[in-house]
Amino acid sequence: MAILIRLTEARRAVSSIAGIFTILGMLATLASISGCSIHIRSSHEPMHPLTEPLVIKATAKGYVHKIDLYMEKSRIGASGEQVVFSPMRIVNTCDPLFWKRSLTCFDVIAEPNGRHEDGVMIKFMAIATSPLGDTATETYEFASGAYPNANKPIPIRVKGDPVEKFDIVLIRTNEFDLEFFRHHLDDIIEESFFQYSTFRDWRMFYNFYYSDVSQPYEEPCAFNGPFSPKVPTFPNAFVRSLLTDADVIAYLHEDEMEDCRKEERFSAEFWFDKSIVHEAGHALFGLRDEYYGGLGPQCVGPRNVWHSEAECLEDAHANQLEEGYCKPRGSTLSWKFDQEGPDGCIMNGRSTQWRSGSDFGPACRHRIYWHMGNCLAGECLQDVMCVNPRQ
Ligand SMILES: [Zn+2]
Repeated sequence: MAILIRLTEARRAVSSIAGIFTILGMLATLASISGCSIHIRSSHEPMHPLTEPLVIKATAKGYVHKIDLYMEKSRIGASGEQVVFSPMRIVNTCDPLFWKRSLTCFDVIAEPNGRHEDGVMIKFMAIATSPLGDTATETYEFASGAYPNANKPIPIRVKGDPVEKFDIVLIRTNEFDLEFFRHHLDDIIEESFFQYSTFRDWRMFYNFYYSDVSQPYEEPCAFNGPFSPKVPTFPNAFVRSLLTDADVIAYLHEDEMEDCRKEERFSAEFWFDKSIVHEAGHALFGLRDEYYGGLGPQCVGPRNVWHSEAECLEDAHANQLEEGYCKPRGSTLSWKFDQEGPDGCIMNGRSTQWRSGSDFGPACRHRIYWHMGNCLAGECLQDVMCVNPRQ
């Protein structure tokens, strides 16, 4: 069907010489792509719409014939259950005359009375279709209007059952404004987490939430008031309530500060991807700093830091990692594999971590993929507490 439509469009284009070349190119491409590859990624803003128009957007790449945007609305009940009151329907279709390598489709949804109805969950689905009828789909849910459960994390990009996902809650520290924070939630996800393939290409593993309640953070590592090594800052009642649903809580602050991971909580500048992703590497995946510090108890699963060169080499061989990279980590008491420098591991010190090309190195990725496998089995944070609780 899609091909017939394309050919009808092709006939229209024969009226010019340029059109003939377009048709030849199009037919050659259609002939050469027996299995079309097509990818789609969707987003929306503001991530928790209250009074502003809601913009939903999807970008497809590959051989793209069209994109359809769908929405379904549910009402959130007192105990969190959802009842659909507006079934899944198409809200926009973007169907250009010719297929494209990249196509973006969006729709703006303004509520008639200037305010999104309270207590609603929106399921947003975007489907891209190739000229040969192959499809790629992305679906997630988010809250719209005032959220009815004050002590619960507010869903802003939820891909599925929390048991099989890493559940990340973004909260702001006391010094900055709620509205400012709410309007930057999409940047924090798109421009920090999703700049890294661990999050972007594996985004089916992550549920994102936020809280509209702020919390204190003082450097270094004081999440609920002044830090004392002898008196750990245990989560207060509100944070404990968030942690019944969250795997990790990101304390995001505006000023530059020394950041830290402490059990399920980590801090970072809301505008700095390197800080967010490094600390998330500790909190979500139990990755060790690759630059200094004691080794602590040994972790279950693949490691990114080893007690000895022999252990590092053994794991390197077992995991088909390239030989020759095992080297002392800060001191000769421990060893690491991942590289330093421009394309080095983001779990390294600042001279590597802050470089634009830094990312999770091969040893870190081995541990991350091991965690993802556990997550699929419903144990997303297995063994993550084995690491030194303060990093
Ligand atoms: Zn660290």
